[in-house]
Amino acid sequence: MRKLEKKLKEYSVFIWLIILVLIILLSHDYYNKNRQNQVSTFKKSLSNIYLHKTLKKISSNLKSRYKSIEYIVKSGDTYESIIKNMEIENNEQKIFLDNIKKNKSLKILKTGQKIFFKIDRLQGSILIEFKIETNKKNEMLFSRIENTNTFKSKLIEKNFSKKVVYKETIITSSLYNSAEKLGIKPNIILEFARLYGFQVDFQRDVWKNDSFQIIYEEFIDSSGKIIDTGDIIFANLKLQNNNLQLYRYEYKKHKVDYFDENGKSVRKTLMKTPINGARLSSSFGKRKHPILGYNKMHLGTDFAAPKGTPIMASGDGIITRAQWCGGGGNCVKIKHNSMYQTVYAHLSKFGNGIKKGVRVKQGQIIGYVGSTGLSTGPHLHYEVIRNGKKINSQKLKLPSGIILKGQDRKNFEVSKIKIDVLKSEIISKLN
Ligand SMILES: [Zn+2]
Repeated sequence: MRKLEKKLKEYSVFIWLIILVLIILLSHDYYNKNRQNQVSTFKKSLSNIYLHKTLKKISSNLKSRYKSIEYIVKSGDTYESIIKNMEIENNEQKIFLDNIKKNKSLKILKTGQKIFFKIDRLQGSILIEFKIETNKKNEMLFSRIENTNTFKSKLIEKNFSKKVVYKETIITSSLYNSAEKLGIKPNIILEFARLYGFQVDFQRDVWKNDSFQIIYEEFIDSSGKIIDTGDIIFANLKLQNNNLQLYRYEYKKHKVDYFDENGKSVRKTLMKTPINGARLSSSFGKRKHPILGYNKMHLGTDFAAPKGTPIMASGDGIITRAQWCGGGGNCVKIKHNSMYQTVYAHLSKFGNGIKKGVRVKQGQIIGYVGSTGLSTGPHLHYEVIRNGKKINSQKLKLPSGIILKGQDRKNFEVSKIKIDVLKSEIISKLN
């Protein structure tokens, strides 16, 4: 017995080895068979439509923990109705609405306005970010402070780029038409006219073959579309070989104005023409009154313009009258300083918030052209009163506004040179 035991012990290693080899061979065979089975079941399962859908759902869930939604506001929408349709938890809707309420700038929803939502679907559906357009260039971004119900908000600039545009042309018909032909946006043309309105009477001072140059900013979105215009940086109106240049300059703290090449503000105390795009129809002086029929001094200047054309305050001042005044119809009177007052008559209606005692800024809309009172058609009757006496506004020689001095003047010179360099760079690229 002992001998056999001894022998077995000697061979045990071999026996174990043989068993092991057998196991490996058998299991490999089994594994192969099984694998074939598995593949065929898997193939069968894949052709099962229901599973197909489930897989799709699972994989899509895996792909996006975050869901982004861009919502475009439709008419009749409210923040409440919009958030109700988002698949988020009820408590989240309340958090959203509370944050909106805190921001006064978001009070009004406009049709076409965009709202972006980013939802985290990992633990329920919670908002982690939302953005609301506030205007063409900005949006308010709300981001959740992690693991809290608090959002911090900030105003950010949208994805756009600023482009500097240069245009020049000879004025053939009118300034407006010539500018429009060049593709200059209307608000830039109006701003151009307003800036020169202090020194130029567009009806009489601009002759055929006069010319202008202008540099201004445009805001372009990612698709290359112009979303807005920015500031006029430089302009030159060449009238009968006289160059009237103006440079945009930012001085002191965010004060922006336009100055000529000598650092004199182009802004005057009063405007010659407090209306854009009007035709001077009757000047100051003796004339036969169109309604009364007899000769009478015309103590103002008439500008014919379509009903509803905005009328601007020709200078800073206080409204001393905004009411019906007989032959003048609806009229506005402004006291600018101890010396000057201006009157605007025949208005169809008053500007927003224009009433006695209100302070107005130069260029602010105080009313709209009409034909109220003794009037034969829509026009503005404009009077300038100096020391209580009505004078001819078109012959008015007014002192300019500020003149840059000292350090402001030095800084202006640097800024002016930069603009001149920019201008010559753009022009050299054109040729
Ligand atoms: Zn008149």
